[in-house]
Amino acid sequence: MQKIKMSNPIVEMDGDEMTRIVWGEIKKELLEPFIDLKTEYYDLGLVHRNETCDQVTIDSAEAIKKHKVGVKCATITANVARMEEYNLKEMWKSPNGTIRSILGGTVFRVPIIVNCVKPYVRSWKKPITIVRHAYGDIYKSKEMIVEAKSKCELVLTSENGEEKRELIHNFSEAGVVMGMHNLNDSIENFARSCFNFALDVKQDLWFSSKDTILKKYDTTFKEIFQKLFDDEYKIKFEEAGIKYVYNLIDAAVANIMKCEGGVIWACKNYDGDVMSDMVAAAFGSIAMMSSVLVSPDGNYEFEAAHGTVQDQYYSHLNGKETSTNSVATIFSWSGALRKRGELDNNLELVEFADKLEKASIKTIEDGKMTGDLSVLAEHDNIQTLNTFDFIKAIRATLTEML
Ligand code: NAP
Ligand code: MG
Repeated sequence: MQKIKMSNPIVEMDGDEMTRIVWGEIKKELLEPFIDLKTEYYDLGLVHRNETCDQVTIDSAEAIKKHKVGVKCATITANVARMEEYNLKEMWKSPNGTIRSILGGTVFRVPIIVNCVKPYVRSWKKPITIVRHAYGDIYKSKEMIVEAKSKCELVLTSENGEEKRELIHNFSEAGVVMGMHNLNDSIENFARSCFNFALDVKQDLWFSSKDTILKKYDTTFKEIFQKLFDDEYKIKFEEAGIKYVYNLIDAAVANIMKCEGGVIWACKNYDGDVMSDMVAAAFGSIAMMSSVLVSPDGNYEFEAAHGTVQDQYYSHLNGKETSTNSVATIFSWSGALRKRGELDNNLELVEFADKLEKASIKTIEDGKMTGDLSVLAEHDNIQTLNTFDFIKAIRATLTEML
């Protein structure tokens, strides 16, 4: 078989611990035999981040801006213990945080579904993607403890010194108070990322808030979404056969429990924080959750949602057998290859990405899986495989499909 050619590179960001080992195996077994893989390689492993004083992380983010598509392995976020373990010069910041602040944009977490691991919600048949607006609201709020017999007001001072006041409460008793904000630009960028992602995956988009109560705050969110939709996305959505739906947050919560999935649910910051953990838990395993950062100007960074699986790495170093689930990392590669293929009109690459995903799912549905799944799966013939044999089993399924 002739290897698939690529015209433009994917930005490849290597990482740490068990996921670094899985990364190498995925390339060796599932990618390089089939594709003339063209990547621009950045080693984001903690050793090399430390050597370059974290410059490599910044360089990799700049490279994504240039090439539009990146794929990232899980990385250690430095803490006190890691300072000692790796003899670090500094407690380097989280690479994901650094990359996000350079690219901007929004993180989408997408569960990967196999028929032998049933979601806890019976009606869910397809993935539910929760998108969280990661700016402002309570996460950038100021709060105060209020003593009895105080008055609290909102005061807005304009550039020319003009003041607007609004009474929050006349406190006869003790209590608490909070002020929070958001920015129209941030909301619009969030909305744009959501609309683009919905078009990419051809799924309906929901957005929810509490505009009946917050008639200025949440209504601003609602109106920014609606205006952007009407001005720029309505026709594209019609062509793609998908819908944009605004819902009150409580109605959205009720509807999500009754729907069959296959939707993207855009949430305000707090709602997204809470709902993403609920949906992830209801779908089963963190090792089956993929993640993609989409910037408003159309850059994509794919990764697994889980970390470096440190405990299994130490077992591996001690010569023990491990059973690390590589599915989310495989899907980060297939996501990047598909996006590269779409941008370059490389149909072969898109088809390969689809088959790689199907082969991974089929391998599990045939009963061959890693330990994290065999404890959850309902299947008559489960074979629990180690880290390496699982990837080899996917290769065998993939080879049959090609
Ligand atoms: P983690 O690596 O996600 O692992 C937490 C637990 O989840 C593991 O102990 C393991 O459970 C299970 N698990 C996660 N992924 C798995 C997989 N692929 N296959 C099988 N089991 C899996 O999170 P953590 O232990 O909190 O963090 C470890 C390191 O990862 C930290 O240094 C953290 O900074 C980093 N991290 C990086 C990212 C990122 O780069 N995006 C995200 C999160 C954490 P068992 O104990 O049952 O084996
Ligand atoms: Mg949370």
